[in-house]
Amino acid sequence: MENKKELRTWLNNMKLAHPLVIAGPCSAETEAQVLKIAHQLKDTDATVLRAGIWKPRTRPGNFEGVGALGLKWLQKAKEETGMLTTTEVANANHVDLALKHDVDILWIGARTTVSPFIVQEIADALNGTDKVVLIKNPVNPDLALWLGAVERFYEAGVKNLGVIHRGFSAYEKNTYRNNPEWQIPIDLQTRFPDLPLILDPSHIAGRRDLIFDLCQTALDLNYDGLMVETHYDPDNAWSDAAQQITPAALDKMTVDLRIRVEEG
Ligand code: PEP
Ligand code: MN
Repeated sequence: MENKKELRTWLNNMKLAHPLVIAGPCSAETEAQVLKIAHQLKDTDATVLRAGIWKPRTRPGNFEGVGALGLKWLQKAKEETGMLTTTEVANANHVDLALKHDVDILWIGARTTVSPFIVQEIADALNGTDKVVLIKNPVNPDLALWLGAVERFYEAGVKNLGVIHRGFSAYEKNTYRNNPEWQIPIDLQTRFPDLPLILDPSHIAGRRDLIFDLCQTALDLNYDGLMVETHYDPDNAWSDAAQQITPAALDKMTVDLRIRVEEG
C-alpha cells in the first residue's frame, strides 16, 4: 500500500503507514504461536501485531484467553520483529499490566464500550497517557454509547484516540456475523472528524470470504486502517476460527486492495 492522503497526527508521530494495517490472531494461544505469526507478518503491510489475551466471551465455557502471561509473548514478538503491539484491555488492572509490559496500542472491546462505569475506570487508569487507544463500537447499534466512550477518554486527557468499526449485533442473523451499518461510523466521524477510523472486517464478517470486500468498501470510504484477524492455521484457532485468514492471504489482500486517491 502507498501513502495517498495526509496522515493523522498519531499515525504520523508514530511513523505508521496510512492506511494502518493491524493483524494477528484473535487470541494469543502459545508463545510459539504468537512468535510464528509475528514473523510471518513482519514483511507484510502489517505494522502492528494484535493478539487478545483477555477474551470476554459471550457464553461461559469458551477459551477466555491466556491472561497476563501473553504480555511477555507480545513483548518478545516486538523485540524479534520490530512490530508494534496491541491488545484488548477490559478493566483498570489490565491497563496497568499492559502499560508495564510496554504494549503500544490498547483497544477497548465491543462488550466493554457498552458499559460506562468500566469505560470510565479504564479512561481514569489511562489519564493523560500518550498511548494510542482504539475504541471499538458497542455491540449494539447505539451511536450515543460509542460517542460517550470517546468523550470519556478525551475528558480523561487521552489524546491519541481512534475508533474501530466491528459491526453491530442483531437478533436476526443475515450474511454478516455483525451488521456493518456503515452510516453509524460515518455519523461518528461528523462529530469527531479527526478521529482515525479503522475497520475490523473479521468480526463483521464472521467468515473469511467476506473480508476482502469489506476492506475495499472501507478504503473507498477513506478509512484510516484495517485490523484483520490472522493465524497460520485459521481452522484450528482457539477462537473465531471461521473468520481468520493466513498471513499470506493478508499479504496478497493488501496488494490487491485499491487505495482511494485523494483529489487535489
Ligand atoms: C476481538 O477483537 O477479538 C474481539 C473480541 O472483538 P470484539 O470486541 O469486537 O468482539
Ligand atoms: Mn476475535
